[in-house]
Amino acid sequence: MEQEIFRHIVLDFMQMAEFAREPFVIERGEGLSLFDTHGKRYLDGLSGIFVTSLGYGNETVIQAMVAQLRRLHFAPPLHGTNPAALALVEELRQHWAPPGLGTVKLLSGGSEATEAAIKLARQYHKQTGHPRKYKIIAKYGAYHGATLGALAASGGWERKSVFEPLAVGFLHVHPPSCYRCPFDKVYPTCGLTCARLIERTIQAEDPETVAAVIMEPISVSSAGFTVPPPEFFPLLREICDRYNVLLIFDEIITGFGRLGAKFGADYYGVVPDLICCGKGMSGGYAPLAAVLIADRVWEAFLGAPAERREFHHGHTYGGNPVAAAAGLAVLQEIRRRGLVANARAMGAYLRARLGALAARFPLIGDVRGAGLLQGVELVRERATRAPFGAERPGKVLDQLLRERGLLLRCGDDFVVFAPPLVVTPADIDAMCALFEEALALAQQRLLGVAAS
Ligand code: PLP
Repeated sequence: MEQEIFRHIVLDFMQMAEFAREPFVIERGEGLSLFDTHGKRYLDGLSGIFVTSLGYGNETVIQAMVAQLRRLHFAPPLHGTNPAALALVEELRQHWAPPGLGTVKLLSGGSEATEAAIKLARQYHKQTGHPRKYKIIAKYGAYHGATLGALAASGGWERKSVFEPLAVGFLHVHPPSCYRCPFDKVYPTCGLTCARLIERTIQAEDPETVAAVIMEPISVSSAGFTVPPPEFFPLLREICDRYNVLLIFDEIITGFGRLGAKFGADYYGVVPDLICCGKGMSGGYAPLAAVLIADRVWEAFLGAPAERREFHHGHTYGGNPVAAAAGLAVLQEIRRRGLVANARAMGAYLRARLGALAARFPLIGDVRGAGLLQGVELVRERATRAPFGAERPGKVLDQLLRERGLLLRCGDDFVVFAPPLVVTPADIDAMCALFEEALALAQQRLLGVAAS
């Protein structure tokens, strides 16, 4: 392929001068495998990027999309909707949404979903007698998207600081990370300081100015891999209720079976007011996302046209019929094949495999996750949890994994697996074998120690 072209394409969050020296161009996908333009095969241990829940080349989904393309490929969104969008909304209401979240805004990407949820929260309070409520509380380390509002809610300076100042009204709290507690406490004797300080923040800001708290049930971002303890979200729900603050779950990674439950909301046993979802919702077959809206919230948006209570928000491709047909086919396939239960079972298997590797590789300080979102944290010394710093062990592993043909999410000091929900024990064995090989080399290089 002509190298010159790499000077003229902009990829996400990437130094293109470096990329151009060793470009990675994916040509084809099949099952759980991707193939680059040199014909090299990669096992997809990350579902693309938490997206391809059914793997590549699913004929049922492709045929549903082709049929929809032939019938109607676009419906004018300012004038009305279409049967595919309605069928998807019905699927979500009947089979996926937690109780009471009966209304759906269809969108095309995760950032659109978090932006819409933030705007829904602000407009909701304006229309229910609390016009001063506008502040959004999020956590450091969160990633809610790349557009300006979603970025203001995000909590990692790495992707934000060059664009500052960002929108006003976004506050951040320290995350519920038990392995590296920001409050130097130890779970479970900590008393959930992480949640209690959110209450203190709401009080200190004046509760009458706080609109919503937005959190991912489990977060994976360049800033880290955070798995909150089981009591965190139930306590946060109570706190939000106490101060009339909406609870928004950003389930763009965790939705649709990823955690071995329909949503992270089900995994943690909490019903939020708004759920943002995307990624696995269409398995990557089309750009698709949504916000699921609690009935009590949606009530505030209904009225006579002259009242102007409608949600003042929209996008050209929201509810696109082909994207909706893809989403419907994917969600029905997940149900038909029992893939949420498979994610739970295969997640337990993957977790056991990673636990066994941790017993032999001191480079692994911690194994954590839920369902098919499992990861390891890499440390210089396990006993003290001493981190590496500038050596960025995750980046060392990323290179070794790519060479061996395995795609995972490697942060500076963590590695996360999120294989498609259709994964089998044999697939996990194959992924873990490649991971072990790379781990052995990385550990030798970084710690000078072989596996035991
Ligand atoms: N929220 C979370 C938790 C994400 O992981 C992402 C993307 O990675 C987004 C929001 C933004 O989604 P998108 O990239 O589809 O705009």
